[in-house]
Amino acid sequence: MAEIKQFKTESKRLLELMINSIYTNKEIFLRELISNASDAIDKYHYLSLTEEVLPKKNDYEIFLSFDKDAKTLTIKDNGIGMTYQELNDSLGTIAKSGSVEFLEKMKASNQKDIDINIIGQFGVGFYSAFMVAKTVDVRTRSLYDTKGYLFTSTGSDTYEVSEIEKEESGTEIVLTLRENNEEFEFDQFLDEWKLKNLVKKYSDYVRYPIRMNVHKSVPVEDKKDKYEEVIEVETLNSMTPLWKKNKNELKDEELNEFYKQKYYDYEDPLLNIQLNVEGTMEYTALLFIPKKAPYNLYSEKYEKGLQLYSKGVFIMDKCKELIPDYLRFVKGLIDSSDLSLNISRELLQKSKQLSDIAKNVEKKIVSRLESLLKNDYDKYLEFFKAFGVNLKFGIYDDFGLKKEMLQDLIIYNTVNQEKMISLKEYVASMKENQKYIYYASGKNKASILALPQMDLLKKEGYDVLMLTDDVDEFAINVMQEYDKKAFKSINQGDLDLLDKKEEKKLKELEEQKKPLLEKLKDILKEDVSDVVLSKRLTDSAVCLVSSDGVSFEMEKVIANMPNQEKPKATKILEINPNHELFKALEKIYYDNPLELPDYADLLYSQALLIEGFELKDPVDFARKMSNLIIKIVK
Ligand code: ADP
Repeated sequence: MAEIKQFKTESKRLLELMINSIYTNKEIFLRELISNASDAIDKYHYLSLTEEVLPKKNDYEIFLSFDKDAKTLTIKDNGIGMTYQELNDSLGTIAKSGSVEFLEKMKASNQKDIDINIIGQFGVGFYSAFMVAKTVDVRTRSLYDTKGYLFTSTGSDTYEVSEIEKEESGTEIVLTLRENNEEFEFDQFLDEWKLKNLVKKYSDYVRYPIRMNVHKSVPVEDKKDKYEEVIEVETLNSMTPLWKKNKNELKDEELNEFYKQKYYDYEDPLLNIQLNVEGTMEYTALLFIPKKAPYNLYSEKYEKGLQLYSKGVFIMDKCKELIPDYLRFVKGLIDSSDLSLNISRELLQKSKQLSDIAKNVEKKIVSRLESLLKNDYDKYLEFFKAFGVNLKFGIYDDFGLKKEMLQDLIIYNTVNQEKMISLKEYVASMKENQKYIYYASGKNKASILALPQMDLLKKEGYDVLMLTDDVDEFAINVMQEYDKKAFKSINQGDLDLLDKKEEKKLKELEEQKKPLLEKLKDILKEDVSDVVLSKRLTDSAVCLVSSDGVSFEMEKVIANMPNQEKPKATKILEINPNHELFKALEKIYYDNPLELPDYADLLYSQALLIEGFELKDPVDFARKMSNLIIKIVK
């Protein structure tokens, strides 16, 4: 008796997409099914090494066969198989996060037809079978079960499950191919040559033999020029894992192809890193840096990690202990001969070997990036635009534990330079007697260049780092200094730009203008902690600065974080004593002191706007502006 069951909603949606795809790479279904078969054998093998009772096998294989008349293609493995429960959980529901992401992306892009190469980016897995098959039969028996089950689906809302006899554990998937049509010839997969090529193309590195019966012409013994047709079992894949090949044998194209298939990217990686480490700890690593950040890199759903193998036996996917957070975008795998297979997941996480490998891998990645920056600036720039912000987080993380290691990898836009430069380059081009590394924060380059606090610095030719990422100031705060030069925000504290004489002159002037400044301070006492004459303005009338500590930029960033204490920067209003506006203020102070509060308020609002803050009361601001205009015209 067959049971009829409903597919889960998401699965139904994925099925529909698969069936209706006018997608050209239908052939990837084979890669997906073979990779499932290989995973299933991996699981069996792993268990057989760790669980005493399990019969050891040495005849692992994935077998392909087809029947031209019945239009069926069969993929059979002798792996772990599925129990009744697993069958329903795995095939009745989409399990794989890749498929879920795929669906989300499809939803977001609002496309009805999938005519784009989007499927290849994701591991859509089992359901891809429906791109080519009208019926899919899965015969499976779990290692832990005495009975087998048959799952049948035509890709509609339901599937059927019934009990069957099956001798060996493992899974056999029979696809009944769809009818050829004008757009696509489904029969092409019922062909030895085609299947051989697909296996070579997509599944060559699968570690278990992928076999098929192959027709061959062989010379007949003793009879010259006579051939007869025989059928022989042939292994179609080379089985050597790519990472076990000699470094100099490996071509970039091979690595790129491997990367794209294994990590579901449609672009070549930006960088591949191969490591063969020998000595006290032996391991092979194959690492990739993608060209672009995956769209969910910063979401909680993103799982970082490298795949872990021990002597070629797969242990786990996404082992997160192998890669630090700030390198979460790195993909790849580690194969170590030193890790014991019997080790449990919990122990593995605490394993010293694993953390040693992780440290080593991190160092290698960083040093590869250093040499990229040195030798191929354009490529580094491409990397930095995609992932630079992660490195800045790396500096900020753990209270700056890794700042020494990472600080030379950060490049900045600056006021004086065309290209982005490192801190080393900044320091090398500092002016004589320049004590600080100056920086300014803002939304973008243009808004930073327009900051009034930039006046004197620009005039004197000092270079200034332009910070536009939220994390920038936090990272700089953690670094504190570079090459013994302290960082200095152009709108915080004293910039140390004036010489002794100028300094003295300003002090005297301030003494002289004290009554006005005190009055302004009193008017604005709710908003600013002080009103002073500026040492940094030349062309602009006013600016806001903060005292050392929390800066404006940090205040804004923190304001957007959830559930945090929200410290505020201490604001100081600076006025340019050489500006006409200052003279106007003085006049008002002496002639019409009652109007001073409104003007002071306008002045402060102006300074707020320049800094990118919101006005406390826009309506009040507008009213005061209007009154002022009316007064001028009268
Ligand atoms: P993925 O393999 O990426 O998790 P799939 O949709 O391809 O996603 O498969 C879903 C699940 O079905 C697998 O995780 C696995 O548990 C099970 N499965 C698929 N094919 C096989 C197979 N040949 N043998 C055993 N289990 C399988």
